[in-house]
Amino acid sequence: MTDTGKVAPFGGFSIAFAPDAPTPAAGGPTSIADRPERTDAKVVIVGSGPAGLTAAIYAARANLEPIVIAGSAPGGQLMLTSDVENYPGFPDGIQGPELMAAFRAQAERFGTQFADVDLDRVDFSSRPFRLWARGTEYRAQAVIVATGASAMWLGLDSETRLRGRGVSACATCDGFFFKDREIAVVGGGDTAFEEATYLTRFASKVHLLHRRDEFRASRIMVERARENPRIEIHTNTGIDEVLGDAKVDGLALRDTATGETRTMPIQGLFIAIGHRPNTEAFRDWLEVDAKGYLVVQDQTNSKVEGVFIAGDVHDHRYRQAITAAGDGCRAAIDAERWLEAEGITEANTLTAW
Ligand SMILES: Cc1cc2nc3c(=O)[nH]c(=O)nc-3n(C[C@H](O)[C@H](O)[C@H](O)COP(=O)(O)OP(=O)(O)OC[C@H]3O[C@@H](n4cnc5c(N)ncnc54)[C@H](O)[C@@H]3O)c2cc1C
Repeated sequence: MTDTGKVAPFGGFSIAFAPDAPTPAAGGPTSIADRPERTDAKVVIVGSGPAGLTAAIYAARANLEPIVIAGSAPGGQLMLTSDVENYPGFPDGIQGPELMAAFRAQAERFGTQFADVDLDRVDFSSRPFRLWARGTEYRAQAVIVATGASAMWLGLDSETRLRGRGVSACATCDGFFFKDREIAVVGGGDTAFEEATYLTRFASKVHLLHRRDEFRASRIMVERARENPRIEIHTNTGIDEVLGDAKVDGLALRDTATGETRTMPIQGLFIAIGHRPNTEAFRDWLEVDAKGYLVVQDQTNSKVEGVFIAGDVHDHRYRQAITAAGDGCRAAIDAERWLEAEGITEANTLTAW
């Protein structure tokens, strides 16, 4: 936290993901931008995770002078992890906050302006589009929505304290750190079963914990898990506390039917109880699917011409930094071409490669 009481975008990070990983150094700029110099832009990008910042780099290099409404937790989901080992270009891995600081510095280098505040509401009824964030009105000819999704957590203090120290919400990202370890996955839907099955590639044993006695997951997923000798399913099992000082070493469990308590020694806990896409500000204007994610039409377009969508806010299939960044690139190129086609910007080369 800064002395203004706000979370510094990239400063002061000291979480380490892998159970034995060293504490990462904080990286990158620590400044907070409350309000950019301008409030009118050809492109306003909402969100500052990999999708939003990649869109900013591309839009800025195409001379579109974008404004990024970065959110009150700038940097996105990678700020919640330390070792990122699957982002290309970093053979030794990179800390999540450091990677996002580099994205932001690159966007700033080409003239992107930032407001580290949450967007409250929008009016997409006519152009320029209008967006409001903490009392300031922004006007944009084109908008890129890249507000991502937030992983849902159990809400335990001990879970927050050990996040990045054995507690994760992304099996694809962090499973590798748990080779030959005994771990647990919590959840009862398809994602929990998928993640438990995936994690048996690394872990010696995976305990699947669910607080009810029935699963939301499809029968085939449940059957597959039951047949897997490395998975043990525990129903009626709630988590009271994640145990461990510097890293996870166990769970305090409660039988939700009898109230009986017990401990389970494990070295990792994967939370697989769902994601919440950050779409509140757009719900009156953009289409959402049954799970609450934004719906894209024809690559990155939304149903409102001039409003583009990128990253995890619509993608619940891949949910990776690289796919979100790729999406941000596509949305910026689509916005650029659209602005040219509308005669708002001069027809130029298609992209400033
Ligand atoms: C614990 C964890 C570890 C992970 N590890 C990896 C990994 O190792 N490798 C990998 O490839 N992926 C990893 N991921 C997944 C990866 O972080 C996401 O896929 C990626 O960050 C999605 O990028 P995004 O830009 O679409 O959204 P996000 O990263 O979610 O960013 C969304 C941004 O929008 C902002 N925002 C939201 N609402 C508003 C609003 N109303 N106004 C303004 N701004 C708003 C948020 O503050 C945030 O800045 C991990 C995820 C988690 C949770």
